[in-house]
Amino acid sequence: MLQRLYHTLRFKLLEMRGLTNLPVISQPSSARSLDERELYPHLFPNYKPEATPEITVGSILTWILLKLAVLMPLMWYLFERFRLHEYWLVGLGAIWLIVVYPAFMQYQRFKAQTQVLEANTLCAKCRHFDETGHFCKLLDEHVSLTYTPCGGESWEAKQSFGRNNQNDEDETFS
Ligand code: SF4
Repeated sequence: MLQRLYHTLRFKLLEMRGLTNLPVISQPSSARSLDERELYPHLFPNYKPEATPEITVGSILTWILLKLAVLMPLMWYLFERFRLHEYWLVGLGAIWLIVVYPAFMQYQRFKAQTQVLEANTLCAKCRHFDETGHFCKLLDEHVSLTYTPCGGESWEAKQSFGRNNQNDEDETFS
């Protein structure tokens, strides 16, 4: 009884001093769970978050043709105008520097991106996957590390998947 009275009085004293209000812990407005896609740039140096690939075989060939279409008439004009025929090696060097070498580097980057997709996506093992454009031939959409257009529902194994050659085609499933 006395103890209860003591606690009541003590509580009243604390209340008068404003010490009974519970502190309000503010929640950070940006609190959210970690999205695993945020890790991709760290795990895969060649990761591109865009669903549309930056480089495809088609884009490499297009740039080659565009550059040649500009470079060839320009070089022809300069060589004719200034009579530079004995410097034909310079022309070849310009084609190498402006057309061939950038295309080669782009193709290396494209191959690296293809390897990342092959190692980490379902689509890469699907018969509808087109390696040259990183897209799904069935749905006509681009594939990325984070995006499988059909969600896996239309996946079909590649004919060569699990087989080394045509002769042992029944071994895989027997
Ligand atoms: S059908 Fe599905 S699994 Fe196959 S390539 Fe297209 S999106 Fe990928």
